[in-house]
Amino acid sequence: MSNLTNYHSHCLFCDGRADMESFLRFAIAQGFTSYGVSSHAPLPYHTPWSMEWEQMEHYLNEFSWLKKKYNDQIEFYLGLEIDYLNDEYNPSSIIFQELPLDYRIGSVHLLQDVNGETVDIDVAAPIFSDIVSQHFDGDLKSLVQAYFYRQMRMIELGGFDILGHPDKLHFNAEYCQPGIMKEPWYQSLILELFESASKHQLMVEINTKSYDVFNVFFPNECHFHLLKELDLPLLVNSDSHYPERINTNRPEALRLLEKAGIKTVRELHGGKWMDIPIG
Ligand SMILES: [Zn+2]
Ligand SMILES: [Zn+2]
Repeated sequence: MSNLTNYHSHCLFCDGRADMESFLRFAIAQGFTSYGVSSHAPLPYHTPWSMEWEQMEHYLNEFSWLKKKYNDQIEFYLGLEIDYLNDEYNPSSIIFQELPLDYRIGSVHLLQDVNGETVDIDVAAPIFSDIVSQHFDGDLKSLVQAYFYRQMRMIELGGFDILGHPDKLHFNAEYCQPGIMKEPWYQSLILELFESASKHQLMVEINTKSYDVFNVFFPNECHFHLLKELDLPLLVNSDSHYPERINTNRPEALRLLEKAGIKTVRELHGGKWMDIPIG
């Protein structure tokens, strides 16, 4: 199998379930040619799922020695999955730009509720449903709109290479209100988001994390034709938190991309992003 690459992957530095080396060894064992780790970047406060700033030096050092150790077996790269928290703290912030990373993923997991409190909306659907009523006065539409505005604001501010799991929210939104993603206003937000990604020449990931469990990619496969139309550079990433899941759902994603007429995916080789034919 070709196109064995992955650039969205967690480890013990954040909420991944194994150390960095275990992910790399699995990648080598499965024949991956190029692999990147992307822990959840530190936030200005503690969370159970993100790194702490105190760990950053260790993160950089761990990567460096593993890259040397496995240099003749795999190309190994270092990234971070950085949250858009607000206009002061996001992927474009100097604090992230100064880090010696190979790439940055920009993701939105956090929103501000009606009282200005930061809320994690990247949670299991039943919990999300409670959040809608408890933090957003039951107004799912304005929550969705806020989520899209954040993704687009993050894109506008820039400072990252890969748009992480675009519209991941649709799965939870559909749980609360089936059919919501087909509504014209939702479709307009999708179009606006991907046009903005295209304008800013971002790479967009097809996040395969939940496909075997919930039968859904982020973004949803119904948008693959739009991605093709906009000629967006795409990557297939597993967002794996377990070494044994680094390759999960990749063949299915590649097959569906091909079905939508997409011929290449982006891979990082020799330190350069390249369009590599699928298959
Ligand atoms: Zn994420
Ligand atoms: Zn992730």
